[in-house]
Amino acid sequence: MSAQLPGITRRRFIASAGLAATAVCLVPHRVFGGEESLVVAARKAGETANITVQALRRNVSALIGAGGNIAVLPGSDGKLIIDSGYLGTRSKIANALSSLSPDPIKHLVNTHWHFDHTDGNEWMHAAGATITAHENTRKHLSTSTRVEDWNFTFPPSPAGAIPTDVFNADKTIQLNGATIALKHYGPAHTDGDISAYFVEADVFHTGDTWWNGYYPFIDYSTGGNVDGMIKAAEANLTMVTDKTIVVPGHGPVGGKAEMIEYRDILASILDRVAALKGEGKSLNEIVAAKPTAAYDAKWGRGFVNGEFFTKLVYKGVG
Ligand SMILES: [Zn+2]
Repeated sequence: MSAQLPGITRRRFIASAGLAATAVCLVPHRVFGGEESLVVAARKAGETANITVQALRRNVSALIGAGGNIAVLPGSDGKLIIDSGYLGTRSKIANALSSLSPDPIKHLVNTHWHFDHTDGNEWMHAAGATITAHENTRKHLSTSTRVEDWNFTFPPSPAGAIPTDVFNADKTIQLNGATIALKHYGPAHTDGDISAYFVEADVFHTGDTWWNGYYPFIDYSTGGNVDGMIKAAEANLTMVTDKTIVVPGHGPVGGKAEMIEYRDILASILDRVAALKGEGKSLNEIVAAKPTAAYDAKWGRGFVNGEFFTKLVYKGVG
């Protein structure tokens, strides 16, 4: 997909043999059946995942496959990193970062609190990073937090993993000759989602408000909802042009055309589920009606399949 975008040069670095895609997407859906939480399975899968380094524009690179997608801006002010991936991929992430430049890790931004974007916080902080995030991200990392749909309760994060530089609406960072604009979405995938825009490079990291080619997870346990996800998808479209290189939370690097398709399928599925619920149908009846059927072959291959996504949407219909 990235090859279709103008202006992208590609440099690939494979950290190890093993799984090639974003690890969380490979976790079989049956883990929701009971025994093992998705969180445990995803962390395990992460240990064998490949990390691909993809050069984007103006020295900004993406690390794909480390959990949530990571963006990196090296330079004399130290590396700025967007999201920290799984702990189990630490050595692969460290190798990938070293392959970009010898600059130390100085700045880490979390797009939201989820484990596949923050498990690496503690080691990156120990390596020298100050952690920046939305204040709700700090809140969720600071306390015991249960995600019902993952059947998992996260303990409070260690002190070093907790963001110390927090903001509420937006924040602009200037370093390494670049401007990085951070912006809160309002409740969407969680209640602490932010985007990170590398202004001069015209590279946009959406966090988990955009999953390129996969139905997204929506975390109702920490303030997410489907209306907010669609609003975030709309907001993302106002932030990009046809030339913007966009790093999703999960899936390959893409751009505006793929973001429009994503927004459209989310809105279409919400309409169908809302209509069925409006007719008085139960959740089981709505799942049986398969309102996602037209999209499942393409979008339901990850850990959120059509049935699970239908349930997530249903939960948010008033
Ligand atoms: Zn997430």
